[in-house]
Amino acid sequence: MAQELILIVEDNEKNIKLVRDLLQFNGYETIEAVTAEEGIEIARTHHPALILMDIQLPGMDGKTALQHLRADPLTKAIPVVAVTASVMTSERDEILKAGFDGYQSKPISIKEFIPAIKNVLNSRLDSQDAS
Ligand code: MN
Repeated sequence: MAQELILIVEDNEKNIKLVRDLLQFNGYETIEAVTAEEGIEIARTHHPALILMDIQLPGMDGKTALQHLRADPLTKAIPVVAVTASVMTSERDEILKAGFDGYQSKPISIKEFIPAIKNVLNSRLDSQDAS
């Protein structure tokens, strides 16, 4: 199960580097996009195991990007985890209601981040087994 590809959609270079380093250190491959538009294109061509989606992006935002991903047969089954600077409960609820498979708040918690990613990847595998 190692070497799964994770797509990072994020426009902040420091956040990209932190997430990339954490994922690579834990045996994942990473690919990056700095806009939602680019992220959607990479998702279609590279079929990542999971997408980390920043909500605030230049141009299209992360929530709109999720709707595009879900509407496309090529990308609709890929789990998408929102990454947001907001820790307000109302926005968390909104994010989960929008259909994201989970969320991580920024600044990223180094202790919680990888277990949360593994959890989403594992539940995706479980639901595939059940079908
Ligand atoms: Mn951003």
